[in-house]
Amino acid sequence: MTTLIDTDLLADVQRFGAGDVSACFSCGTCTAICPLTDNDGTFPRRIIRYAQVGMRDELLSSKELWTCYHCGLCSDSCPTEADPGEFMAAARRYAIASYDPTGLSRILYTRPVVGALIATLVAAFFAVFMYAAHGPQDAASLALFTFVPEGLIHWTGVAVMSAMALTGLVGIVTMARRVARREGVSLRTMLGGGAALSRTVAALWAALGVESLGQRRYREDCKDDKPAEPWYRRRWLIHALTIWGFLGLLAATVLDWGLALTGVKETGTPIPLWYPSRLIGTVAGLSLLYGVSMFMANRVRQVNRAAKVSTASDWLLLVLLWITGASGFFIEVALYLPDAPAANHLGYWVFLFHVAVAMELMLFLPFTKFAHAIYRPLALFFYALAADKSKQTA
Ligand code: SF4
Ligand code: SF4
Repeated sequence: MTTLIDTDLLADVQRFGAGDVSACFSCGTCTAICPLTDNDGTFPRRIIRYAQVGMRDELLSSKELWTCYHCGLCSDSCPTEADPGEFMAAARRYAIASYDPTGLSRILYTRPVVGALIATLVAAFFAVFMYAAHGPQDAASLALFTFVPEGLIHWTGVAVMSAMALTGLVGIVTMARRVARREGVSLRTMLGGGAALSRTVAALWAALGVESLGQRRYREDCKDDKPAEPWYRRRWLIHALTIWGFLGLLAATVLDWGLALTGVKETGTPIPLWYPSRLIGTVAGLSLLYGVSMFMANRVRQVNRAAKVSTASDWLLLVLLWITGASGFFIEVALYLPDAPAANHLGYWVFLFHVAVAMELMLFLPFTKFAHAIYRPLALFFYALAADKSKQTA
């Protein structure tokens, strides 16, 4: 098999935040200290080697790239200060941009001013688009869907979700084909027969249930937080609260939509706080807001290696998540405040802002760091399949 060499690869990965790893001489100190090495005596330095020698295809088809949680132990012990942990993070950003067919990820990661301009214009577009169809503002109560028609929000949301899903799917297929080819995994090895099928189901559970949602290795292996860091600031916890908060908000939206579809309750009908979709949304919103606020504070304070280097794209995702959560919470408070015309009046504009930013957030998901939420489980799936295979052959 021919290996194509990309002589610009290392310089390109450096544009995504990697430091100078040219001094790395593959001493293996990072391998010895990394809690995720398992039986792979070349992790993580092999990925650095790929970049050094320009093996782009090998780098982009490495499932190992996504198993690293950026704990920073390797960076603290590297004798050449190559910062392998940050290199792995930059290589993941590079991979996200490489799997993206539109080129938007690359712009958001490497051209912050242009990226900020695009983000502002997209949010402004959604706001103007919604406002163009606006109705009257009821001063007595916060009638949100009289101001911005529910149907317009619904169908714009469907269009945005479809665009997001399509782009995300292209990225998933691109990555899956690369990794599968390298790992020797095919539809036949995954689905051909009962034994193959049960191995696939077990690998899916390990990747999605145990690692992605349960974050087993994140909690157990990556002791990256300073010992003095209190439990409520632990990285795995705020990561979990952010994920679960986001998924909870998604679940509440789908539930609300389902209730409207089945005629149980029309969207926008006043409901008590304990109503299932409202309760899930409130708890999830607070969880998301807490997790994202802590992530932002950690980045400002640079409390750990993972928070030391922040790209504009990282901030964009956090800011969009925070604005969506905070504005949603504001609207909820305004909805339940009795006789608060001032809050109502402001509530309409906050609602318009909330919808515009939420649309942008959904549209931008596959182009920002959020994309790791799909690529990491996929890589962990291949990782679990490979672990099972080596167990069988041992
Ligand atoms: S990154 Fe540092 S610790 Fe790892 S192999 Fe290279 S020089 Fe050694
Ligand atoms: S950052 Fe942590 S998990 Fe990632 S390669 Fe380094 S030691 Fe391993």
